Amino acid sequence: MTKNTTNDYCSFCGRSDNDVNLLIAGISGHICDSCTEQAYQIVMESVKAKSGSFDFGKEKLPTPQQIKDYLDSYIVGQEDAKRFLSVAVYNHYKRLIQDKEDDGVEIEKSNIILVGPTGTGKTLLARTIAKLLHVPFAIVDATVLTEAGYVGEDIESILTRLLQDADYDVAAAERGVVFIDEIDKIARKGDNPSITRDVSGEGVQQGLLKLLEGSTVLVPPQGGRKHPDQKMIAVDTKNILFVCGGAFDGIERKIAQRLNTQVVGYANASKREGIDRHNLLKYITHQDLKAFGLIPEIIGRLPILAHLDVLNRETLRRILTEPKNSIIKQYVKLFAMDGVKLTFDEEVFDYIVDKAIEYKLGARGLRSIVETIMMDVMFSVPSTTKKKVKITLEYAKEHLEKSRLDRLKEE
Ligand code: ADP
Repeated sequence: MTKNTTNDYCSFCGRSDNDVNLLIAGISGHICDSCTEQAYQIVMESVKAKSGSFDFGKEKLPTPQQIKDYLDSYIVGQEDAKRFLSVAVYNHYKRLIQDKEDDGVEIEKSNIILVGPTGTGKTLLARTIAKLLHVPFAIVDATVLTEAGYVGEDIESILTRLLQDADYDVAAAERGVVFIDEIDKIARKGDNPSITRDVSGEGVQQGLLKLLEGSTVLVPPQGGRKHPDQKMIAVDTKNILFVCGGAFDGIERKIAQRLNTQVVGYANASKREGIDRHNLLKYITHQDLKAFGLIPEIIGRLPILAHLDVLNRETLRRILTEPKNSIIKQYVKLFAMDGVKLTFDEEVFDYIVDKAIEYKLGARGLRSIVETIMMDVMFSVPSTTKKKVKITLEYAKEHLEKSRLDRLKEE
């Protein structure tokens, strides 16, 4: 098929009607399809740059209280960690906008370490902060990292994830947040590292130090192992906020030891009495991290130390229904999208929490329990004309007890 051509041409690239697929006429000019596409991309990039919070102005920065309020709407409890994190993030971003005129005072970087049992909200905290700040965010697992030359991933691959999240926009990545999970797993294995080579312990900590303290690092764009012909991307980590998290199993013993020697040393019985033996984690200090096997240089680069509490029954119950995107709210929305009003009897929530505790699944288990209870009704309701669904205790019990999940309790 031949096109009806005119003598018009694109006012942007100058190509004639003949050389393009489509020419759109304006009042006093024309634009071709490929220029339209390019213009679209330019517009999208500029919108993205404007909506991203990379242009921090002092007036735009949320206060620590505002940061905490935001965290409160997603995370239940964990007051200590939320306060520490709010102040740390506030200071970190003040640091980013500090006056470059040299008055001799340079605000130092404030990386964070969160200590608390698995499933208590460490990742959720870091993720929520990144969401608030609209910056690129990456989660990496410290256990896959090894020293260069050994099986595993190079330390620099941490930044690959961040670059990927930032669509390879280096400037954006350089202001991002990285969550390094399971930092406790790279603790020094013993007091004498010379017996066997500690490739995933102290060596990795040394490598990590380079990132935490802020330096320009060459990053393999695809991650994994570096190889000689690969083109590297230079990333400056000076302004990247690192949040490390770990369960530090058994650190309570180190804390107790320290507290005991302190108390006995001062022969002060009243001091000993004031200690909450059930929650020793709240007394954690950097000294305990060192006793656990983190090298002093790393500890020095993680000046903010906060602990997370074990989730008790009451917290689990609140997690189920209170956060802005709580599991229950998500299900209500799923049903509402089909025009169905979903409600639960109050006792169902207590039952779900009881089961999560019984199966020792913590907060992560809440979702799988709700999912199991809801499976049948989610399958059948969309093909009926029902407008209301109520989950009763009896229904919840019946559906959970016949499921595979219930067999967990025998284990
Ligand atoms: P961690 O990183 O400490 O192992 P996560 O942050 O991955 O734990 O938590 C697992 C899941 O449990 C989260 O996705 C969240 O749904 C839920 N959760 C855990 N703690 C909380 C909390 N304090 N408030 C709200 N939800 C929580």
